[in-house]
Amino acid sequence: MKNDDCIFCKIANGESPCYKIFENDYVLAFLDISKDCFGHTLVVPKKHFENMLDCNDKYLAECAKAVKKISNHYVNDCGFDGVNVLNASGKCAEQTVMHLHFHIIPRKNNDNMHTFPKFDGTNVDFEKQLEMLKM
Ligand code: 5GP
Ligand code: ZN
Repeated sequence: MKNDDCIFCKIANGESPCYKIFENDYVLAFLDISKDCFGHTLVVPKKHFENMLDCNDKYLAECAKAVKKISNHYVNDCGFDGVNVLNASGKCAEQTVMHLHFHIIPRKNNDNMHTFPKFDGTNVDFEKQLEMLKM
């Protein structure tokens, strides 16, 4: 299943080029075009899903397995100490490419990067939050 207007579908189909890190029947991982940090990697399902909210469980599980595999490779074989894994699901969450992807940011001790978001805080108490959120 592909979306003709989707750049990540084109990359997953081989119609557009990428710097490929890993591939199997379900997922493709390649370097992010931004070159904003060394090794910034995107893991995408080979089938088009807009984001994590509409992805089927099989493809989502395969993405998670690939994220783990690649992250372990970066740490065990490539000299990194850990990773950040980031996902934006929805335009409100600042998703810009509307094909599900997970960012892997390889990290080193004392690399001085700050990839985890800083928030302004909330005054809503935990009971109120549970009232709205509990499943
Ligand atoms: P988002 O903001 O949706 O979480 O992330 C989209 C990411 O896709 C950005 O980091 C952006 O640099 C990357 N990106 C956008 N277009 C391309 C492309 O054509 N090729 C590659 N390799 N990365 C892309
Ligand atoms: Zn797509």
